[in-house]
Amino acid sequence: ERADTRAILLKINKAAAQYYYVQLKSSQGAVGLGYFKKRQLSDETIKAFGLGYSNKYSDDLYRYLKSKGYKDDMIAKAGLISIDEKNGVYDKFWNRVMFPIMDVNSRVIGFGGRVMGDAKPKYLNSPETMVFDKSRNLYGLNRARRTKKPYFLLCEGYMDVISLHQAGFTNAVASLGTALTPGHAALIRRYVQEVYLTYDSDGAGTRAALRAMPILRDAGITAKIIRMEPYKDPDEFIKNLGAEKFEERIASARNVFMYSLEVLEKEYDMNSPEGKTEFMKETARRLTQFEEEIERNNYIEAVAKAYHVGFEDLRKLVGKMAVQAG
Ligand code: ATP
Ligand code: MN
Ligand code: MN
Ligand code: MN
Repeated sequence: ERADTRAILLKINKAAAQYYYVQLKSSQGAVGLGYFKKRQLSDETIKAFGLGYSNKYSDDLYRYLKSKGYKDDMIAKAGLISIDEKNGVYDKFWNRVMFPIMDVNSRVIGFGGRVMGDAKPKYLNSPETMVFDKSRNLYGLNRARRTKKPYFLLCEGYMDVISLHQAGFTNAVASLGTALTPGHAALIRRYVQEVYLTYDSDGAGTRAALRAMPILRDAGITAKIIRMEPYKDPDEFIKNLGAEKFEERIASARNVFMYSLEVLEKEYDMNSPEGKTEFMKETARRLTQFEEEIERNNYIEAVAKAYHVGFEDLRKLVGKMAVQAG
């Protein structure tokens, strides 16, 4: 019975995605198509990702799905309408550009909808349903799984994934607003052993990257960080600097340890001898985590170079910290 319901929810989602896509291409959807064009998406990209538009009138999708024979309780279970005792039935999404979210087998399991202006909330997402488990699906994975590259680019948003794919980086996926979970990491690990984190360059993105690192490591995935500065996210980076520069950022990606030091650095006054000394002590303490001598020396060398301190001085300090730590 559950299986039957799931099958119906998948059919409803598919029908909704087709409806939104047709609307985007209709006169009503011109505003949505214009929005995607303004964001430099090609027709090919729009089609590949099945992008769409939800009409201004707030029960168009509902009426369409009813006309196809779907029942209220199922449409509600799919998360596409709200039923209000007093005011009747409303589409969850209206007057938004639509991003169907697909599972790894390209079945539509939910949606994200974006306002075209500055209204809030900027994005509205389908609730979790019997077919949509947010912690076990990644946006773009249905396409990224076919990559020949040995790594994924992991980013934050719909537009990041789409822009990257359009620019030829067809190995991009996103966890869509929710923090990366062990479920996501396990899913990634089925396809690749390496991830390049390309989160937003703001505080939230930096914190999200730091939180994602141990989760990836625990799943047996090596993580590297790509910085997007001076831009906000991969979408803006690509639009401004192009694919070649992004390729350069991939090539110069930092490993997780060096990146964590860049974050740590911000806690110290690096222009004063005291501040820098305290920073180096904490760094030396962290370097003790590398128990293998060769690996430890490699990291000491990298840090010494990056922060202009003597290799031998730093090596001694790390040795001292290791003794203190017992
Ligand atoms: P855009 O480039 O279209 O402005 P973005 O992807 O850069 O969007 P962010 O604000 O960086 O937007 O958010 C990253 C992702 O987080 C979004 O793609 C979306 O999946 C999710 N998200 C953002 N805002 C919300 C919100 N208000 N509610 C739910 N999810 C959101
Ligand atoms: Mn963000
Ligand atoms: Mn963006
Ligand atoms: Mn962003």
